[in-house]
Amino acid sequence: MDYYNLVVVGAGMGGLVAANRGLDRGLSVCLVEASERPGGSMKFSGGIVWTANDRDTLRRIAPDGDPALQAALVEGVDELWNYLEEIGVELKPEEDIIGVGRGRRFAGTTTGIQEPVALHLYQRFLNGGGTYVGRTRVEDVQVADGSLTITGTGAWDAAYAVRAGGLIFASGGYHASKELVQQHVGGDLSRIVLRGNVESRGTALEIGQRLGAAVTDRLDTFYGHSLAYPIHYETPINWIRVGQYYTDHCVIVGWDGLRFVDEGSGVLEEVMPQHAARRADPRYLAIFDDRVYRERVLRLGVAPGTAGGGGDHDSFQLAADLGARTARADTLAELVDQVADWGVDPATLTRTLAEYNTVCRDGDPTVDLSPARTRFADPVAQGPFRAVALIPGITFTTGGLRVTGEFRLQDAAGAAVAGPVYAVGADAGGVYAPYYAGGLAWAGVGGLRAADAIHAALAATPA
Ligand SMILES: Cc1cc2nc3c(=O)[nH]c(=O)nc-3n(C[C@H](O)[C@H](O)[C@H](O)COP(=O)(O)OP(=O)(O)OC[C@H]3O[C@@H](n4cnc5c(N)ncnc54)[C@H](O)[C@@H]3O)c2cc1C
Repeated sequence: MDYYNLVVVGAGMGGLVAANRGLDRGLSVCLVEASERPGGSMKFSGGIVWTANDRDTLRRIAPDGDPALQAALVEGVDELWNYLEEIGVELKPEEDIIGVGRGRRFAGTTTGIQEPVALHLYQRFLNGGGTYVGRTRVEDVQVADGSLTITGTGAWDAAYAVRAGGLIFASGGYHASKELVQQHVGGDLSRIVLRGNVESRGTALEIGQRLGAAVTDRLDTFYGHSLAYPIHYETPINWIRVGQYYTDHCVIVGWDGLRFVDEGSGVLEEVMPQHAARRADPRYLAIFDDRVYRERVLRLGVAPGTAGGGGDHDSFQLAADLGARTARADTLAELVDQVADWGVDPATLTRTLAEYNTVCRDGDPTVDLSPARTRFADPVAQGPFRAVALIPGITFTTGGLRVTGEFRLQDAAGAAVAGPVYAVGADAGGVYAPYYAGGLAWAGVGGLRAADAIHAALAATPA
């Protein structure tokens, strides 16, 4: 059986960074990938490598997250940018991300098509002497006397086995596992869109727990966006361009006509998909007036700094063109009549909008509304009015394995589990709870740290 200093499971953002770093540190590295091509969800992404400006901001976004991991992320992003540039990934200059973060975009790629970056990292890894095993799904890890045996299944059911001095899980979380999403998030999966790679089905979560690792508290949390409904989502470009990134400025109601979420409670509109997905009927409506349409939908396209941003398209109109349910009317009463045809309860919706408008004009929306409205509490006042039907898109789960500041698996008592096993990216839980501040940076920072830690541990081990 072949032996490598380091085996990396998954060739997405975290895995490609970790594998390259391992080679640079002089380790023999094998990168095992389930799908046909490298890139994971990273290759479908907006390509903005970003996170919160500082620790305090990240704590505000993710108050239930682990402060040590949050510090590692915020403090590691500059090193990640430098490393990516050193190994030939071109990045645009630093930019502000919706007033809470700092980011740098992959240069020379199109939003939603980052495959050139993935292929560059893959090619560099091969040129540097790394071993790549594609179309092979890792299924088990055994630890004996500090050494690891990793097994799985390759193309045509071929058994795969390899030994390693250290292992990094970078398999992308469990957003693509029907069972795990149903168990932890809930909702009606026929009305939730898988908005990420199809292979991330909880490999690390399952094996990590078998090895004694604990999991983080919030396995129900995920990063995603509101997607217009009903549309058949088949391409990643679709996910981004039909994403309705402005819904934090709207009134959000369920099919029952009731508000169910504080629309302004996060920094992005990811709040809506998270809350909606947990409901038995995850469908919801965004209702907004002409000011929001002009200032958020048209002028910004999507929230500045997010994928697809820059006002290059009208995502509401695109949703309508693609067959999603949209409505436009000069009065709110006419709008309610139109959405009643979709099955939304008109009497309840009329009451909800009337109460919302009254409180936003005369009262305190942070107290007098239930749920409260903590930001963007403007009345829906100026016609024409619009509504769009939405469902949640799940991009990646943010709960996962508990890890140390070096990304090594941790047990319930906080001790490192036996065997040099690490988890990065979406496999490493606990940094973002409940909300998110960038997935690429989290995966890349973890990839660097974990590869360095395995290098240091092997260097310290007598031959
Ligand atoms: C449409 C979209 C837009 C996005 N935009 C942004 C953005 O602009 N900025 C940002 O920060 N983040 C963005 N993200 C999120 C970002 O892409 C992810 O957070 C990031 O890719 C996670 O990295 P990862 O290494 O954990 O997982 P991934 O990049 O998803 O890689 C996981 C890899 O593991 C493989 N794998 C799974 N199971 C196994 C197994 N058992 N054996 C072997 N291989 C396995 C998968 O096939 C996959 O290749 C976006 C994502 C999407 C889908």
